[in-house]
Amino acid sequence: MVLPKIWRPRVAVCGIHIESSTFSPQLAYEHDFTVTRGEALLNRFSWREETWSQAIDWLPVLHARALPGGVIHRPVFDAWVAEILEGVKALHAEKPLDGLFFDVHGAMSVEGLLDAEGDLITAIREIIGPDVLVSLSTDLHGNMSEALFNGCDLLTTYRMAPHEDALESRRRAMYNLAMRLLSGQGKPAKSLVHIPILLPGEKTSTRIEPAKRLYSRIPYLEALPGVVDAAFWIGFAWADQPRCKAAVVVTADLPQEELEALTLDWAQEIWDARDEFEFVAPVDSMENCLQWAETAQRPTFISDSGDNPGAGGANDVTYALHHLLNWEPTMSGKLHTICVSLHDAESVAVAVATGVGNIADFVVGGKIDSRWPGPQSLRAKVSFIGDDPLGSTSAVLRVVRTVDGVEVETGLDVVVTKGRNQFGALATFQRLGLDPREADVVVVKIGYLEPDLYAMHKDWKMALTPGGVDQDLIRLDHKLINRPMVPFDCDPEVLDAVELHAITVGR
Ligand SMILES: [Zn+2]
Repeated sequence: MVLPKIWRPRVAVCGIHIESSTFSPQLAYEHDFTVTRGEALLNRFSWREETWSQAIDWLPVLHARALPGGVIHRPVFDAWVAEILEGVKALHAEKPLDGLFFDVHGAMSVEGLLDAEGDLITAIREIIGPDVLVSLSTDLHGNMSEALFNGCDLLTTYRMAPHEDALESRRRAMYNLAMRLLSGQGKPAKSLVHIPILLPGEKTSTRIEPAKRLYSRIPYLEALPGVVDAAFWIGFAWADQPRCKAAVVVTADLPQEELEALTLDWAQEIWDARDEFEFVAPVDSMENCLQWAETAQRPTFISDSGDNPGAGGANDVTYALHHLLNWEPTMSGKLHTICVSLHDAESVAVAVATGVGNIADFVVGGKIDSRWPGPQSLRAKVSFIGDDPLGSTSAVLRVVRTVDGVEVETGLDVVVTKGRNQFGALATFQRLGLDPREADVVVVKIGYLEPDLYAMHKDWKMALTPGGVDQDLIRLDHKLINRPMVPFDCDPEVLDAVELHAITVGR
């Protein structure tokens, strides 16, 4: 037995990661992102010290990552692309690269582009050529375009929604890349099948059927001899682009026909489940949710789902707030309601100038997304001002009203934040002196409840509120997606006639 030769594969690392709603008027700018280069970029990977990882020369280029939000302002994107391409070019010229780790979301939108990730990997390929092994990691709410598929050799995505396995997915993408390079196995074969389904994450959580069952096929597929990875993208519903749809990709060291049959079989299983996808919680209009909440169990949660910043909502739509300001049970002080949260730096500034314990007039929200129905005037006592770990200031406003010439507190707390924020964890509330477990009703800009909130809720409904990430997809009026597409087309005859096709590339 001869010991393997010691050589150090050279692997570039780059990517831009954001989930963008194209139905929201907001844009994403550089300040919305955390940009890392050099060692800071590599420090994102906690497995750097593992032996397999140490055998690779990871070469950081640029990585930019933001919370879900709007479409990226074009000059910001162009500058990062130029930096990535120049960086990759310089590394490749210095000594040819062996691999590249492409760390993206898959639902990034950029002004004027319909497939930003596909365009970027195509441009990178023009520099590194066809032989360098490219490994891709994405969010399962990303889209698998043909360009992205063509540009990558190893393709994987998260397998859990909520995304408890986000880091594990990146590690898998890097590990598989390292192993293929060190073993000299080179590129596996790959097969892609698109499925004409476009659904919100709130119908496709892997905690419930049918997604739970469809994703649980992955360990069986991966246990088959020769299979490297099996990946299933739900796709991203809140962008209007031809690439937006579900997809599966299987990568394997298998004969092309065998791999293709395997991939088509899995895709067909998903397609056959098309009528099973339901919302993770009961849904209703905001009006009906409030009426129901009067007698529901406490704490009662209402998801203001159409403006969920976690999916790309503007985070300042006032539809829910407007309804709360007209909801007698809380305005009379009978019920304590927490309304979290509106991205509104101006109102935070007014709160800071007013000071805790004092009353002032505010015009809250509707400054980014002024539809439905726009800024809300209210008078409130500043009851708390706090900073979050990202350095953004937030304020709790207890709405007051005048009764017989005297200002009295209502039961409504409205939280305004200087930066985009989501109240998905108990600690985020506690930093502002709020305890959702003690409240009667919590109206939160979110879709499915994140683990902390899920654990404490006694009753929960999802309000189908309008906004950039409206759960009622039909209302959004997509123009560019392929048809037929579930749920936009529902004629059973048309859907039954759909045939799935595989795009398969051999070794
Ligand atoms: Zn996601």
